[in-house]
Amino acid sequence: MNTSWQAELAESFTRPTDLLAFLELDEIHRPEFLAATERFSFRVTRSYARRMNKRDPYDPLLLQVLPDTRELIDHPDFASDPVGDLKAVTAPGVLHKYRGRVLLITTGACAIHCRYCFRRNFPYDTNMIGKRQEQDALDVIRRDRSVSEVILSGGDPLALSDERLARLVEQIDAIPHVRRLRIHTRLPIVLPSRVTTELVATLTETRLKSVVVIHANHANEFDRDVSEALTAFQKARICLLNQTVLLKGVNDNAEILVRLSETLFENGVLPYYLHLLDKARGTRHFDLPLDDALAIYQAMREILPGYLLPKLVREEAGRPYKMPVG
Ligand SMILES: *Cc1c(COP(=O)(O)O)cnc(C)c1O
Ligand code: SF4
Repeated sequence: MNTSWQAELAESFTRPTDLLAFLELDEIHRPEFLAATERFSFRVTRSYARRMNKRDPYDPLLLQVLPDTRELIDHPDFASDPVGDLKAVTAPGVLHKYRGRVLLITTGACAIHCRYCFRRNFPYDTNMIGKRQEQDALDVIRRDRSVSEVILSGGDPLALSDERLARLVEQIDAIPHVRRLRIHTRLPIVLPSRVTTELVATLTETRLKSVVVIHANHANEFDRDVSEALTAFQKARICLLNQTVLLKGVNDNAEILVRLSETLFENGVLPYYLHLLDKARGTRHFDLPLDDALAIYQAMREILPGYLLPKLVREEAGRPYKMPVG
């Protein structure tokens, strides 16, 4: 049976032209950009679209989801596996890159498709923990006593049903050497109704310490529904962190990022990482010269209290941690 968030998800925009009509931007109907959706399909929730400014073709939320013909221009520096994910696969859907932490690709599904996504070319069909691969993945964790943290990722792990998540968490909970459960998700931002009482209960009724890492890139992504969803986690004393991707045209200025940090804090979330763009094929139009990124970060450092300054990092394949920059 569909719950209300699943029904809401099913109402998402799946054609750019419908979103543009909703935003009263019919004049930028450019049929040629539809070609970009053949490589990576279009998807955005109505909730997220309502936070976009009408009639603004440069709206920072719109630019994150609007297909662009520049996605079709290949460049040697922009690859299908930019951060070496596939070399870190230890069983289907299991990524073990960093000491003590194992990341599970629980699904390929997301509620919105971010055009800059570093996993936009990820082979989910062969590298995902469907019900069939679940036991093998859990066995890998059971056998490796160095694993103290399991990260649920994807896609978006909160695209799974509450029942499936509860079962997965229960099984991870039963592995004695695992102490922390981390969820990397954009759903509290793009589909806040996903934060159900059952979900919060799953994360609090386990002996594992839960950390929810959300993904927001701009203060305009927050509205009352998002605040309420985050409050539900906060009331349950679940640690909330945020990751941001530095994106040309979206948030490439210190003032925007300072406002984001302040908005996060008002919602009980601490800024964690500010990522330089991972060079995934088709994302080059979001890339920013390193010097510009460093100048933005320096300006942020001069304005923000230390606890609201995210770590500026770049992921390099084969490195033992995300590399600090600046
Ligand atoms: C980013 C990442 C993690 C988590 O790294 P932290 O620095 O602990 O946030 C773990 N596994 C993989 C494969 C990752 O890409
Ligand atoms: S929500 Fe995350 S995984 Fe999904 S498309 Fe956006 S960046 Fe990629």
